[in-house]
Amino acid sequence: MTPMLPLHEAHSYRALMRRWRELARRLGVRLQTLAVVEDLPVCWLETGAKGAMAGEAAVYLSSGVHGDEPGAAWGLLVWAEENVDRLRAGRFLIFPCLNPHGLQRNTRVDHLGQDLNRRFHVAEDAVCGPWRQVVAGRRLAVGLCLHEDYDGQGCYVYELGRRGRPRLAPDMLAGVRAIPPDGRRRIDESRAAGGVIHKSRVPKHLPGMPEAVVLHELGCGLTLTFETPSEFGLDVRVRAQVEFVNAVLSGMCIAGNTGE
Ligand SMILES: [Zn+2]
Repeated sequence: MTPMLPLHEAHSYRALMRRWRELARRLGVRLQTLAVVEDLPVCWLETGAKGAMAGEAAVYLSSGVHGDEPGAAWGLLVWAEENVDRLRAGRFLIFPCLNPHGLQRNTRVDHLGQDLNRRFHVAEDAVCGPWRQVVAGRRLAVGLCLHEDYDGQGCYVYELGRRGRPRLAPDMLAGVRAIPPDGRRRIDESRAAGGVIHKSRVPKHLPGMPEAVVLHELGCGLTLTFETPSEFGLDVRVRAQVEFVNAVLSGMCIAGNTGE
């Protein structure tokens, strides 16, 4: 059974990583250090790197790029705790919390006051540089970037896939029961329908490179940026994040995706 959510510790990086360390032990994998930023280690782990799944494209999961979005970070942890068998049987590359300082301080930005999600192209960035080295050498079937949005009126997903590829996000979003889809027709200056923003090309004139776009450029055929509304209760936001990851993995099985 999944341990209780420590609602009073939503912004405790130490509490979050204690649970990830315990989980990594159960999985028999190492919680690796990507970088140490002002005394806080930024960690990652992978499953299926050895054995039968070693040659398969991995499922990429990350959260905590923005520190004021704890529902995403705890949602990813709870999903992982509830899916130990799936993690053992498959191939996963996971970054549990890429901006620990932001989480601790309940702020969007990193320790230098910068938005990490505009810096994934920057090789000199303390986190994005090493991140690029880990990700660039790996084949990815799908990339999930988990976020939250203060303006959100429900859940929504930003789908970036190759041209001509079937749109998967609507079915995946239908698997989220805890919070209904965001009904807005425009979200973040993009057209949206049923909580889905779909793009088959990288938008022009970006202020910097987000994680999902760089994953796309590194060859990941489908990236999904999922957002829960920050003004809803933390427990339903966490549940919605868990349901979305489950729905994506079910959808990928149905679509027979192999990372091509
Ligand atoms: Zn965010």
